[in-house]
Amino acid sequence: MKHVGAIKVFVSTSRANERMPHTILILGGTVEARQIAAALAARGDCDVTLSLAGRTGNPVGQGVPVRVGGFGGVEGLAAYLKENAIGLLVDATHPYAARISTNAAEAAGEAGATIVALRRPGWERVEGDRWSEIDDVPAAVAALGQAPRHVFLTLGRQEVAAFEAAPQHHYLVRSVDPVDPPLAVPDAQYILARGPFETADELALLERHGIDAVVSKNSGGSATYGKIAAARALGVEVVMVRRPRLPDVPSAPTVHDLVSMATHMLGPVAERGV
Ligand code: NAP
Repeated sequence: MKHVGAIKVFVSTSRANERMPHTILILGGTVEARQIAAALAARGDCDVTLSLAGRTGNPVGQGVPVRVGGFGGVEGLAAYLKENAIGLLVDATHPYAARISTNAAEAAGEAGATIVALRRPGWERVEGDRWSEIDDVPAAVAALGQAPRHVFLTLGRQEVAAFEAAPQHHYLVRSVDPVDPPLAVPDAQYILARGPFETADELALLERHGIDAVVSKNSGGSATYGKIAAARALGVEVVMVRRPRLPDVPSAPTVHDLVSMATHMLGPVAERGV
């Protein structure tokens, strides 16, 4: 069985040839995945590989060996798990990355690997929030209405294209990689930035651009909560895309809890083999 479109990039080879009792694959693309990888690698008895989809042109250093690219669906991932004798699969992908999470649950079952997922809790609406919750991005476009507005889009660069259907609005688009091609709308400005973002800076940004609607996913966590807090402070509407349904697998809400759970599963740190 061969890998489908995958490149394996070793950023650290010092332990690559030593025998490690635990072989772990972490599905990443999030800050938490990197933190989990670091914590498990630090045990010294785990061969940890982190997997990225390859969406970001210039991913930040991950600190452990990285492989990049899709596996080729459930079958491809199951084959990878078997070929590489992965004992533990950690799904630490973004809460909206539903396809890979679903594939991971199925492939782990097929390959006989243990799976554990990070399920970062979503943000809860609090006093003063003006949220319109909708199911998907096209519904977010519709929720903005007909009258021209100043809209802050904080979605993935692939998702913002849907807003070309509402060219009457003025858009401020923030993404990690450039939106290319740019939106086919008369007025869009772009900011390239990677979180975390402070509430004070988000507040200043919303005010500077006269924003009257923020479109966001319910990502949870603190790194991107600043825009939600800023919108609340300014009485600005947040059009919030609801979370997709994810498979029911053993999970933990935080990096700390997930590492504890994995530690429990792996047992005490093993002596290095020879
Ligand atoms: P998705 O729709 O669930 O996945 C689409 C396909 O991309 C998967 O079927 C898989 O291809 C490949 N893939 C996704 N994550 C992968 C990983 N970690 N390693 C290898 N292949 C992966 O996911 P998505 O929404 O495109 O997100 C892609 C990545 O970006 C995820 O790793 C996620 O954590 C990260 N991310 C997503 C968001 C978001 O809002 N969706 C935000 C921040 C970061 P095959 O079927 O060929 O295996």
